[in-house]
Amino acid sequence: ADARLGKVTKAETTCNYCAVGCRFELYGKDGSVLGVRPADPEATPANDFSTCVKGKFGYDFVDSDDRLTTPLIREDDGSGDFREATWEEAYDRIYEELSAIQEKSGNDAVAVTSSSKCTNEENFLNQKFARQVLGTPHVDNCARLCHSSTVTGLQQTVGYGAMTNRINEDIGETDCYLITGSNTTEGHPVLATRIKQNVRDGADLFVFEPREIGLAEHATQYTRTKPGSDIAWLNGMVRHIIAEDLHDEEFIEERTKHFEELKEKVEPFTPEKVEELAGVPPAELKNAAETIATADTCIFGWAMGMTQHAHGTRNVLAITNLALVTGNLGKPGAGLSPFRGQNNVQGGGGDMGPAPHNLPGYQDPTDDDVADKFAEVWGERPPQEIGLRLPEQYEAMLDGEIRGMFIMGENPVLSEPDIREARHAIQELDFLAVQDIFLTETAEYADVVLPAASNAEKYGTFTNTERRVQLVRPAVEPPGVAKTDLRILTDLAERFGYDWDYSSAADVMDEIAQLVPIYSGISYDRLESTPAGLQWPCTDAEDPGTPFLYEDEFNFSDGLARFVPADYAGPAELPDEEFPLMLTSGRVLYHWHTGTMTRRTQVSMDHVPESFVTIHPDMAEQLGVTDGEYVRVVSRRGDIVVRAEVEDVSDPGVVFIPMHFAEGAINELTQHELDPDSYIPEYKVSSVRIEPLGSD
Ligand code: SF4
Repeated sequence: ADARLGKVTKAETTCNYCAVGCRFELYGKDGSVLGVRPADPEATPANDFSTCVKGKFGYDFVDSDDRLTTPLIREDDGSGDFREATWEEAYDRIYEELSAIQEKSGNDAVAVTSSSKCTNEENFLNQKFARQVLGTPHVDNCARLCHSSTVTGLQQTVGYGAMTNRINEDIGETDCYLITGSNTTEGHPVLATRIKQNVRDGADLFVFEPREIGLAEHATQYTRTKPGSDIAWLNGMVRHIIAEDLHDEEFIEERTKHFEELKEKVEPFTPEKVEELAGVPPAELKNAAETIATADTCIFGWAMGMTQHAHGTRNVLAITNLALVTGNLGKPGAGLSPFRGQNNVQGGGGDMGPAPHNLPGYQDPTDDDVADKFAEVWGERPPQEIGLRLPEQYEAMLDGEIRGMFIMGENPVLSEPDIREARHAIQELDFLAVQDIFLTETAEYADVVLPAASNAEKYGTFTNTERRVQLVRPAVEPPGVAKTDLRILTDLAERFGYDWDYSSAADVMDEIAQLVPIYSGISYDRLESTPAGLQWPCTDAEDPGTPFLYEDEFNFSDGLARFVPADYAGPAELPDEEFPLMLTSGRVLYHWHTGTMTRRTQVSMDHVPESFVTIHPDMAEQLGVTDGEYVRVVSRRGDIVVRAEVEDVSDPGVVFIPMHFAEGAINELTQHELDPDSYIPEYKVSSVRIEPLGSD
């Protein structure tokens, strides 16, 4: 068989799309990925043998003709064109330009963006490049835009900003689910399969959503909510549970504090008030609350429908209060389950600390003891001030305070809210360097573009949504002279005079283990011999990891969880005469985020080739729009033209556009009202109108 396979290489690796973290064998030859086969069951803890369509067929992008194969430098001859360059030229240009900006305007005039698509080791090095090499505190990443409110909410209530439980053993085995703000079958397909299987075996499933998503078909009860109204019905459920004496008194007494404050704050959320605010019928509210409270175990699952609001943190507080009041933490089959988005947003976007207020391991940069610990390893303290969060960085770019930027593997020209303003901010920079696998919409604005390796071409680790650190291995070589992000960052640090001296990703993990307490028992030796990976906290070489959190105590010095009441807030922008419709956003199964990979993947483009807007049949009739025709969608920020899909899945006043496309990009329409705790923008609700294009 080996002879027949010729130069085919096989790598047991981790999917590079969503944070379920499915594992499989990836086969490659001559730079192309040939296909995917199931891996050893022991090495596939999240997915057994299953993968979704992206994991199975979504690898054509790896040898796309669009791959960057050589560094590019923008000509300074006035043409504005890129020319191919050597690595040395590219590194020199980045060094000279960023140094000049910093000499003139200070270290803080430069910002760095990290990427949840990249490995833990690369994200660790990216924040180290920002903090140690450039001396700037302004480093952030796309987790700011997806689940930062999950992290700020959970840190206040239970301690760790992460899923508390396992996918298979807990999500797959629970007695009851409350799923909200997650189109799970589209966004986290294999995880959704676990839920559907368990529901078939008798578990109850409650889906609270503005849109009747695929999972609703399998639900015990689907309840349609008004977009942005979640605090009302979550507080209403807590109130009803307490009023009916169904709360878990023993758990509340022994393991929590501030219950009386919560009880007082939820009192106004009567079933009638909830119906007025959220559109939830009282009978449905009560049925769900009573079933959840009396189930032995319940999983509370959510994604960006909960987090991407100007009150996203309060949404997370509200759902956490419900889990605590029903005693659904610290035991198998129960837990708080934020379904994180990208492959490595838990690890690379969170745990590795590419964030202005967190050093790796969520450690406080202002704490002198922490700073000294880093100084012992790095030879100098990282900057101790709190830097600017991503949306604040874009404001500082417009104000001229940030003059230079280094972006690894992100596409803010499509992913920021109100992208006309984001484009404007990027154009105001004196210098932009982008490191990516494609000439993305953002890289088009760069002065220097560095060609990076894809995840099929590198070693490293991803941490999936259940805190499981898993190995990533290469099946093919990078194209042209492209290099791994890890190698590029190490080379670049050297150009700035820092000898980082890492010979491999394993060396970087050793430094992570030295500095990050929740990873201190993790090493490549252990990961190579532990096929199922290790779930953090994993604090020493003997520690088997932590399958579910908070069995004995919550992550606070007194070990107690905190009830933090959530005051009601609705959408920041409400429909009016000029913009009478509520626009919401989300994922479709075949695509991924800003689509840089899936828009170059045949199976994805065959199934969903372009953006669209979903319109209720009554509204379509009122507007005179027919299925399949192109319409203009207009908000206060901008307008786009997309195809109409007439579908009865929401209230007539709610429309939906996916987030994956450059043509018809939804973020031309969205707003940047921010959550005050997490700085996440309110992507999920904007007011729009729809104009038929007729025969234009
Ligand atoms: Fe990859 Fe997620 Fe699909 Fe699994 S469910 S194969 S991790 S995209």
